[in-house]
Amino acid sequence: MSDFPFTILDVAYLLRLNIRRRGNPLVVYADCPICGEHRGRMGLYPQTNTWHCFHCGESGGMLLLYGKIHGVSNAQAYHEICDALSVGGFPAENGAPAVTGTGKQPQEDPASERAPEREIHRTLTALLFSLTLTQAHREHLRTVRGLTDEEIDGFGFKSTPPYRLCRELTEDLVKRGLRVQGVPGFYVDDNGGWTVKFYQRTSGFLIPQRGVDGLLHGLQIRLDNPIRDDNAPPEKKGAKYLPLSSAGKRLGVTSGSPIHFVGDPHARVVYVTEGALKADIAHALTGRTFAATVGANNTGGLDELFSFLSRNGTEEIIEAEDMDKHHNVGVYRGACAVHNLALKHKMACRQLNWDPAYKGIDDWLLALYRKRNEKKE
Ligand SMILES: [Zn+2]
Repeated sequence: MSDFPFTILDVAYLLRLNIRRRGNPLVVYADCPICGEHRGRMGLYPQTNTWHCFHCGESGGMLLLYGKIHGVSNAQAYHEICDALSVGGFPAENGAPAVTGTGKQPQEDPASERAPEREIHRTLTALLFSLTLTQAHREHLRTVRGLTDEEIDGFGFKSTPPYRLCRELTEDLVKRGLRVQGVPGFYVDDNGGWTVKFYQRTSGFLIPQRGVDGLLHGLQIRLDNPIRDDNAPPEKKGAKYLPLSSAGKRLGVTSGSPIHFVGDPHARVVYVTEGALKADIAHALTGRTFAATVGANNTGGLDELFSFLSRNGTEEIIEAEDMDKHHNVGVYRGACAVHNLALKHKMACRQLNWDPAYKGIDDWLLALYRKRNEKKE
């Protein structure tokens, strides 16, 4: 057996290979992700952690398999696999980190304390400034999300950079006197240099999370390819959003659960939903003020925000959590927390409901908006 802390079956799981049949204890047959055949002609050999496709003839070790699919080197494949199987591979808000396969725990790496918010703001702002938004992501934000170019640029969405640029981007920030230690996403790699955690398997576009103070407190990645949880039922699509976090990495730091705020800090009425992107879209469509938690249950930061808003003149909170609050106990629980916190800070609170065919308030508003525009034309 090898010294790897994972097996080829762990890699098959990460690559979401379609397992067709188990020949005997020595071989598992899957569809080949390289040539795309669909008859389970790729043999995976757990004893040697190798694979061979009887259709296209490709073969090799498990790092090569992962590397071929994601276009990364063996060394990077090793890091990404370890990371995905032990820490940080799944959104932190989903509970315990996923450990699968051999279940070997990584050694404890020292963490950093969170840097002062103003420093985090400066560093993440500079990071965003050095990135671009790909045409494909801009097109998605335009056509699927209904945002204008002006809004897209205003909110500051950017595409995640390729892995090979992470070190360089970080060095550049350090050279400019910006602090990276204690900023979510940054950590010290195996070569002893500071870098930032952008992987190919977690590529996507970045959503800035700005507080009511106007500072950037964190970034969320909207994944190009959702990550499936091992224990999730088959109909579940997998996580679409991931915080930019370096929890579990050397001198890394967790993202926390920053509350995103968009609109007027003196608004009489403030809407609360989950997800910064949803809030941005709903704000762009209505001009109303929105606060967004990371997930429906990450309501911790709302206490401080509501205290501030209440003193600032807000009279009413409108709970606008996704419509699955009526059957998803987690979302329902989050919605109740919003109501209780509003009452605690002496603000009125009511629940917003809409056509349940639309899950999020952004989907519903966008559909309304598009219908109205159709009528005008
Ligand atoms: Zn093949």
